[in-house]
This record gives sequence, C-alpha cells and structure tokens, in this order.
Amino acid sequence: MRIVLLGAPGAGKGTQAESLVKKLNLPHISTGDMFRAAIKNGTALGLEAKSYMDAGKLVPDELTVGIIKERISEPDCKEGFILDGFPRNVAQAEALEVMLAEQNAPLDAALNIDVPLEKIVTRLTGRRMCKDCGTIFHIAFNPPKEEGKCDACGGALYQRSDDTVETVTNRLNVYTEQTAPVIGFYAEKGLLRDVNGDQDIDKVMIAMGEALGQQWN
Ligand SMILES: [Zn+2]
Repeated sequence: MRIVLLGAPGAGKGTQAESLVKKLNLPHISTGDMFRAAIKNGTALGLEAKSYMDAGKLVPDELTVGIIKERISEPDCKEGFILDGFPRNVAQAEALEVMLAEQNAPLDAALNIDVPLEKIVTRLTGRRMCKDCGTIFHIAFNPPKEEGKCDACGGALYQRSDDTVETVTNRLNVYTEQTAPVIGFYAEKGLLRDVNGDQDIDKVMIAMGEALGQQWN
C-alpha cells in the first residue's frame, strides 16, 4: 500500500505514522527525519537543509524531490511505503505522481489528519524529541514516564528549534499557503481520506484503519 500522510505541522503525523508502520509493516519515509539525520551527520545536504529549517522555511523542492525519488526506489519500498512530510506543495505532489507513474505504482490513499489550526500551536510548543532515537513525546498529551527522559532509550528530550512559538507561527502560515492546497489536489484525484485528528491517539488509529478499509481494534 502506498500512502501519503497529510496534516498541518503538529497534527500528529509523526506519531500516527509510527502506528501505521507497525500495522502495515511498511517503511516510514519522513523527509524531516532524513534531513535531521543529514544535519546530525553534518553532510552538505544537512547544512543546506538546516539553514531553511532554522528560519521556519521549507527546504527547496529539487532537494526534497531528489531525496524521495532515491528512497522510494529502494527494495524495501516494493510493497509500499508511508510518506510523511512529503509532498509539501502541489509541485511536489505532481512530481510524486510522475515518479510513481514511471514505476507503474500509483498512490492508494492520501490520509489527511485533520486538526483545527488553533489547537496546533499548543500541541507543537509542547512537543519534545529524543536526542538519540528521535521518539516524539508531548508534555501534555503523551508525556514520558520520567520528565525529560526518553521511555524508549533513556536519551535526553529536547525542544526542536522549529517548535518554538515564533517558528511555529511562521510554519503554520507557510502550511496554509503551500501545503493546504495539496489536500485539494488529492481530493480531485479521489485519493483523499479525511481523518479526525482531534481525538485520542488510539481513536485516530482506528479512524485511519477505517479510512483505508481495514479494521484495527
Ligand atoms: Zn530515545
């Protein structure tokens, strides 16, 4: 199954993607994770991406499209994948469509995790990420067992530079302008599946299953 996960930053895409990966046993392709890994390793791509991310801007399309094309051509994507953080605008969505048509492997669904924008600022600024394994927590909605410490590996939790109030506001403006039209793009193709993301994580999971024609309890 080839799935695109859509939703505003802070709609819970990362967390939902992790559950989807377990249910569907498909690779999770997160452009955010890929760029963060490149930044951590200090590659040229990483440094270039960092300058954009620190300013709350999107990484340029050609950089992102190239990295995605390479990644979905790998053997583990043969049975499908879950794309998270891509496509971020209509041009990227069109590039993806062309890419998949070349492989004769069209998209099955675009899952849109829908959360009112006014709830998202609270969500995002409370987010904490593990320095070591990248697991995401939330100080209000998904707190770690021990404050500041990762449940999975014991690593230190930190607030990403793109989760501060100023950057969040900037990102939401960019989202409304550039990414929200992607929802319309997939609606036109008959691929859009809206999922209410403003409920418990478990319920979002069940709703995603229903949207994909599967029963997950
Ligand atoms: Zn960890």
